[in-house]
Amino acid sequence: MIDFTKVTLVGNEERYVLQAMKEKSLAGDGYYTKQCENAISNLLNTEAPTLLTPSCTAALEMAAVLINISEGDEVIMPSYTFVSTANAFILHGAKVVFVDIEADTMNIDAKKIEQAITEKTKAIVPVHYAGVSCAMDEIMTLAQKYSLYVIEDSAQALMSSYKSTPVGTRGHLAAFSFHSTKNYTSGGEGGCLVINDQSFIERAHILREKGTNRRNFIQGTVDKYTWVDKGSSFLMSEIQAAFLLGQLEKAHEINRDRNKSWDLYSDELKKLAPQVEIPSYKNNIKHNAHMFHIKVENKEIRASLINYLKSKNIQSVFHYVPLHSSPAGMRYSTFIGQDIYTTIESERIVRLPLWFGISSSEQRYVVEQIKSFFEKNSHNCFHRQSNK
Ligand SMILES: *Cc1c(COP(=O)(O)O)cnc(C)c1O
Repeated sequence: MIDFTKVTLVGNEERYVLQAMKEKSLAGDGYYTKQCENAISNLLNTEAPTLLTPSCTAALEMAAVLINISEGDEVIMPSYTFVSTANAFILHGAKVVFVDIEADTMNIDAKKIEQAITEKTKAIVPVHYAGVSCAMDEIMTLAQKYSLYVIEDSAQALMSSYKSTPVGTRGHLAAFSFHSTKNYTSGGEGGCLVINDQSFIERAHILREKGTNRRNFIQGTVDKYTWVDKGSSFLMSEIQAAFLLGQLEKAHEINRDRNKSWDLYSDELKKLAPQVEIPSYKNNIKHNAHMFHIKVENKEIRASLINYLKSKNIQSVFHYVPLHSSPAGMRYSTFIGQDIYTTIESERIVRLPLWFGISSSEQRYVVEQIKSFFEKNSHNCFHRQSNK
């Protein structure tokens, strides 16, 4: 069986986890946390502080609290995303406002954001799908024009860049994921919040330390530690941070390997046009090969392709069902403007096996089977009309 995804392991994870255990310093914000936070800031080439969190979901929730999301606020995002992007804001009373995506990147269409802005709009949450950056210049310009916050859902995008600037350094806040399905993991669950707007730093530390000024106490700037604001527990355990450090040390190696695999799929599968559409991005986009997806004509062909590949022992999967069509989405959100691409494009996506260390022979087998599917089914596949 060729799995769709496999957990990345690069070598030092076990050693660092055992070391953390030996040192008996397991609670959050210890040595390994600091090492990881520095490593992430270095990878992002930023002075902005990074705080490790239990998940990207938690980092997004921290962002919602930091920008004071409250009842009635509106937050603009794509409907084609993971539930956490919306939940983080809905939990604090916001209404989620969806706008359409672009067909080629599957990211929010920056040109369609302005029509959705109202007096109640508080933030824009771009999601860098597949590690491919959203049009951040346009988004930041709009945010400035209307005094909105930008929270980047960078869950999939560590090591990606846009116009040579690392993704996750432009918005006021950015959340990354270290879930086991992402390019770098802290051993299953994990994430971080990058604080690009300095005005949030102090409160972010208080918020994650259960609303206390424990950090100031440890630094010796106050003589007792006390409850000073709203808070929760948003720390990552040192065991997880130790695991993550093993991966971050090898971030470039992991990134190179994934990109090499991505390029192989891209080179081989472009030969199967027009039945198979492969992603193509602008030159100013450098992505981290978080996923490789193809698009086929429609969801019926997609279902048969996925089944066919399964019969050949290849696990391929589709992705998000747009949130605005889900039961909770109908309750908590509205879609502004027309859904031209969100639903239709989401129904055409098939994600192929891609992980650190996948062999080129495994990939070639996947390519061969996709090819044979289309050879066998060529009579009932209509050539897709270009929609550009
Ligand atoms: C994975 C993911 C999340 C959630 O990350 P967790 O670390 O599992 O909480 C949020 N948004 C997007 C776009 C994701 O891909």
